[in-house]
Amino acid sequence: MKLDSENEWGYYVDTETFQISNIEEDIPDGSLVIIKEKEYIEDISRTVIQTTYGIVNKDEFRPMNKRDISSLMSEACARYILTSDTFPPKVKIEKDLKEDKPAQLAFILSNYDMFHLKISSKMLEGKNPYELISEMVKHDTARMTLKDKEEIWLIEYAKSSRSKCRSCSSKIEKDTVRVGEPYYYEDHLNYRWHHEKCVFWKTIDKNQVTGIDELEEDDRKRISGFMK
Ligand SMILES: [Zn+2]
Repeated sequence: MKLDSENEWGYYVDTETFQISNIEEDIPDGSLVIIKEKEYIEDISRTVIQTTYGIVNKDEFRPMNKRDISSLMSEACARYILTSDTFPPKVKIEKDLKEDKPAQLAFILSNYDMFHLKISSKMLEGKNPYELISEMVKHDTARMTLKDKEEIWLIEYAKSSRSKCRSCSSKIEKDTVRVGEPYYYEDHLNYRWHHEKCVFWKTIDKNQVTGIDELEEDDRKRISGFMK
């Protein structure tokens, strides 16, 4: 995807990983795109910033209103919660959780770009949002304390074929091993994904990785062998 003019800039959110990146040519399908444009308004002699929201579909930008983006991100957030048992980055509880009610969360990208999310039990495959999220929040400190320790790499099977290797730029196929290099965007832990063959393993210590124990035996043995 390309921006139209020099007055535009923007970023996108991968709706699988919730990673935030600057707009680049190759944006995964379904990503939320936020485009900002500087515009001079003569009547008031001021420059204002216009924001356009949309999603990318087959490399094309499709504008969407904020409400539709909110429901799209609610679905994405529910999927994230189901697969990882934590909140995605930038998601906070907006209103106190109530039993038998959808959870009201907020996805806060900046003071200007905030989306209200509603997570129903239907989105969580029938699980009760109140129960699931209260339980999750209890463990949520795990994510924050990682920052105080050394940064931990994450090894797992790719959940889809949508992530791209940051070393060689080619796709990481679904169900193959992907290696997450930790980094912080503001206060949130994110990962840059790599193929196992593209990681410089010699610099990584066994104590610096997590997820190996969940791999199948062959993969576990092979990957362990790469490390110090
Ligand atoms: Zn690679």
